Amino acid sequence: MMDNFDLEIKIKEYQDNSSNLEPTPEMRAYLLGNVINYTEDFLRQIYTLPAFNESADNGRGIINYNITDQPESIEQIIDAISTHVDKPGLNPASGGHLAYIPGGGLFGSALGDYLADIMNKYSGVYFAGPGPVRLENMLCRWLCDIAGYPENAAGNLTSGGSVANLTGIVTAREAFDLKSRDIEKSVIYSTVQAHHSIDKSIRIAGLGECIRRIIPMDERFRMIPGKLNEAINEDKVQGLNPFLVITSAGTTDTGSVDPLDEISDICSVHNLWHHCDGAYGAFFLLSDLVRDVLKGIDRTDSLVMDPHKGLFLPYGTGSVLIRDKEKMFKAHHHTANYMQDAMARQEEISPHDLSPEMSKHFRALRLWVPMKLAGLDAFKAALNEKILLTRYFYEKIQEIDGFEVGIYPELSIATYRYIPEYGDADNFNARIITEVLKDGRVFLSSTIINGRFTLRMAVLHFRTHLDTIDTALEVLKEKVDYIKNNI
Ligand SMILES: *Cc1c(COP(=O)(O)O)cnc(C)c1O
Repeated sequence: MMDNFDLEIKIKEYQDNSSNLEPTPEMRAYLLGNVINYTEDFLRQIYTLPAFNESADNGRGIINYNITDQPESIEQIIDAISTHVDKPGLNPASGGHLAYIPGGGLFGSALGDYLADIMNKYSGVYFAGPGPVRLENMLCRWLCDIAGYPENAAGNLTSGGSVANLTGIVTAREAFDLKSRDIEKSVIYSTVQAHHSIDKSIRIAGLGECIRRIIPMDERFRMIPGKLNEAINEDKVQGLNPFLVITSAGTTDTGSVDPLDEISDICSVHNLWHHCDGAYGAFFLLSDLVRDVLKGIDRTDSLVMDPHKGLFLPYGTGSVLIRDKEKMFKAHHHTANYMQDAMARQEEISPHDLSPEMSKHFRALRLWVPMKLAGLDAFKAALNEKILLTRYFYEKIQEIDGFEVGIYPELSIATYRYIPEYGDADNFNARIITEVLKDGRVFLSSTIINGRFTLRMAVLHFRTHLDTIDTALEVLKEKVDYIKNNI
């Protein structure tokens, strides 16, 4: 047993040995200076840096930087990040990112994150963080207004679209009070174009043994409402329990939007939950060029929209909106004895009552700060620019001999493929992708549409402009010539 004097000496010793956790003001300035030097170099070069870096070791060297007992300098740390983390693979901050669904990386979000991390305000529970909670609720209300959701709707800022889809699907399950004995007879409807995170969410939500009906699509890859209605009627006749329809507001392959209005009609006649995955497409509600395509989105029961896609935020921010706040609360709230002080002082609904999360990153700031700094008009203009750039690409690619295009782009995704005079078209297009990746100026991806290897151009980065699309066209033309001469 130590006496009190020894105890104090020991405590002080530990305090001294942990002092690296609190840098001095001078040290903070030095650390910040180094970080800002790096990020400013990065940003000053961003329009000329490659969109993709093929590298032999793919950053394997980072394993030599495991955690050790002793501190390292900020120079060493930044050097490790620069060489092994930043360089290899995709550069998602580049406007040349034209594959999958591009993200963004707004500067204002970095400022929001910096502020959030320094203050470390608690954003899970109203009592502890009334400011952050009001801010998140205000932003969710703003998202509800964009979607046209009623006063009684609620929302949650999530880590991304996948968790947002999960939250929507779990809310549907609880709203229909599905018990495990009901699951085998309960039916979920979607098209084959539903994002794979939907399948994942269904499984994680314990609904993997529900009956899945894949509803046929029209020639523009949209669910055919009549076919949905037929399937529901047949299932009802068979004594099954249809309960959930999952639609897409912007599919990943082609950016197609299911006919949301007609599907909402069908859902209300049959009393089904309508969950809409607008992770990619829903923010095009802010674009007067394509808003009409999303007609009926306001009638869905739950909606996913990803600010780290359509609002150009850095990765880590999705959102889910639920038309009926009570249902969202019922599915997610929980109390505990140690929460009693908080529960007694609840003036606004707390995010932890609407989500699987409790403690969470103060995400609202990384959304709010860039929106306030740039103003909504800048975002509307950028979204319109993306729509027109896609149409521009769609026209221009057809002027290059041998390219054919898929459906006219509904939102900001165009599909196309090259038809060679000789040989297998699928192989030729696969080679185009290989050569484009090797080149790195732009990053493009492919998919399979109607059984054919098809190239995609997805325009959603705030740094993608007319000259980026011209570069992409040039790269494609160059690679086709190269492959033709090197068969
Ligand atoms: C990106 C995307 C998702 C998944 O969202 P994450 O934010 O990547 O988790 C789901 N659905 C669609 C349509 C998407 O585009």
